[in-house]
Order: sequence, then C-alpha cells, then structure tokens
Amino acid sequence: MEGERRASIVIGLSMKHHRMQLPREVIVGSGTIEQVAEISRRLGFTKSALIIAGSKTNDIAGKTVKDLLEDENMEVNTHLVETATAKEVMAVEERIKSVKPQIVFGVGGGTKIDVAKCSSAHQDIPFISVPTTASHDGIASPLSSIKGFEKPYSVMAQAPLAIIADTNIIMQAPWNFALSGCGDVVAKITAVKDWELAHEDQKEYYGGYAASLALMSAKLVMENAELIKPDCEEGLRVLLEALISCGVSMSIAGSSRPCSGSEHMFGHALDMLKPNCSMHGARCGVGTIMMAYLHKTSWDRIRDTLEKLEAPASARELDVENEDVVRALEMATTIRPERYTILNKQNLTLESCEKLAKITQVIR
Ligand SMILES: [Zn+2]
Repeated sequence: MEGERRASIVIGLSMKHHRMQLPREVIVGSGTIEQVAEISRRLGFTKSALIIAGSKTNDIAGKTVKDLLEDENMEVNTHLVETATAKEVMAVEERIKSVKPQIVFGVGGGTKIDVAKCSSAHQDIPFISVPTTASHDGIASPLSSIKGFEKPYSVMAQAPLAIIADTNIIMQAPWNFALSGCGDVVAKITAVKDWELAHEDQKEYYGGYAASLALMSAKLVMENAELIKPDCEEGLRVLLEALISCGVSMSIAGSSRPCSGSEHMFGHALDMLKPNCSMHGARCGVGTIMMAYLHKTSWDRIRDTLEKLEAPASARELDVENEDVVRALEMATTIRPERYTILNKQNLTLESCEKLAKITQVIR
C-alpha cells in the first residue's frame, strides 16, 4: 500500500486521536531536481507518474522532471493547469482516474501545487511537491486553497510525501514571490498569538510543539532579514526552510492554526475586495503589523523587518487604496467566524479600523 510508506504518527490526546501526516523526504538546495528519479525510486515509485504544472512552470521544471523520470523507464504524463479552481481539480481527478499514476508531482508555485495536492488527495494517490517559487507555506503544508470550494481559505488535503526545492530554479522567479513568502512566515507571530488566545479563552486545543515550530520559522526569517535578498542562495534557503517548517507545523497541528490567524483573515478579506491585487504573503505580512498592534506585541519590529526586506508594509505597497485596507479590517472578522482570534475581543468599528491602520502606518 502506497499510503503505508508515509510517515504518520498517531498520538492519544486525552479524548481523541491526533493524526500527524508528515513528509518523508525534504531536499532543499542547488540542483536538487537532479535527484527526482532517485527520490522517486527510494519511495517505491518506479512505474508511473503524473506531473501537474502550469505552461510556464512546465518549461522551468516540469519537463526536466519528466525527462529524469523517463530516463528511469517510468511512464510519465503531464497535465497542464492554469488556475486553482474546483473545475481544474475535477479535470485532474479525471486524468488521474484514466492514467492511474503511482505518484503525482506538483510542479509550480501556489496554484499548481494546490491543484496537485487536492486532486491527488481526493483520488488517494500520494504527491510530491516541486516548488518553483518560495511565495507561501502551501509548498509543504497538508492544506490547499481552491477557488470554488466555498471557503476563501485553505482546507485539509494531504501532506506532500516529499518536497524537492531546488534553489537554482526558485532563484529564477521574480523577487516579489520570495517577499510574499517572507510575509507569510512573519504572519506566524500573530497566528500563534491568536492560537494561544483561543486556548486561553475558548479552551481550544493548543499544540505547543507545532506553535514553537511556526514561531521559530518567523524568528529565523526576522533574524536573517539582511541575508534574504536577490541572488543570495543562503538567504533563500533560510526562507525555504522556514516555509517548509511552517508546512510541517500544520501537519503536526492537524490544521492551519499555527500558521493562519487574524492576519490571514485580513489578507483573505482584502483579496475578496480587491482580487489578485497583491500576493497572498504580502497581504498577510501587512495584516501581521496591524494584528500585532492589537495583541500589544512588537508590531514596529515586524514593520521594520518587512521594510528591511523591502516587502510590502503599507496600503500603497500592496497596490490598494487606504479605504480598501480599512474595509478589509472591518470585514476580517466575518471571514472565518469559527476561528477565534484577537478580532473577537475587539468589536472594531470602521473608525477604529482606520485608527489602527493609521497608527501602524499601513495607511499614511
Ligand atoms: Zn499563508
């Protein structure tokens, strides 16, 4: 059974079982894509594979993956996708049913990996993540974000069986992708604060190990901000390892709790008001500044770090109007009512939202 190869830990927690589905191989570094066939063989996949990629990411990395696997006499099919929609997921599921691959590879940035993760999970086929950007923690998480499945946020799918992150490939992506990744990692500061709050106020399950892992990732990126710059492989590795650790922290928690709190709700609200105005992590990074203020934690340090990284820290840098930020703040509480955060304790009016955005200099 393919499923049995995956590292899976079940721990008895007071009342119910807690299942952690973790990646088995994580390979980060320069030229790691060359190891794709070897990793596949090691995991027991020697016959067939299906590659999910976008037209661009297929040229950047998908074709290389195909060639390397075919060199080992594997039967490899490629399915190109453009967007992360329910329709695309269903089309990939049909393709999985017809070609019956042993393993699915998701090659690309956010959307391609999301589609590969979600469709393979539905069809009970393991998947390997081959990110071509470092733009968010979905490259390693068990959750996928698909438009058309009702929820504007990520839902459980499956953890990648392996993650092959080739820094040579990821360095070729435009730099704003990495800056989005930085925002998504910094966001863990307020996400963990919100989780602690939910534990205190609502007696929600809280996993200290998952929370520490997410928080440590944020600290590492903050401390190494000067290393994270274009053409610096060392800095990119710090960011990639942080994003992967965040993904693993969600696998350990069994939900997105350690990585997604009020700052993500702001980000999702802004995306609903101004679709695709800016990247996911960039929006969440700006949300983190404001939510950190509400949590009475060092919001200015977060803003300074984002500025040092040259990542967006204001409405203007997110390419939206001041009013959009204020409205997104007001809307944030309604995005995910079941997820208790600092916003539940605030009762923010439009006026206080504006004040919050002004104090934190998100709107100037
Ligand atoms: Zn995120």
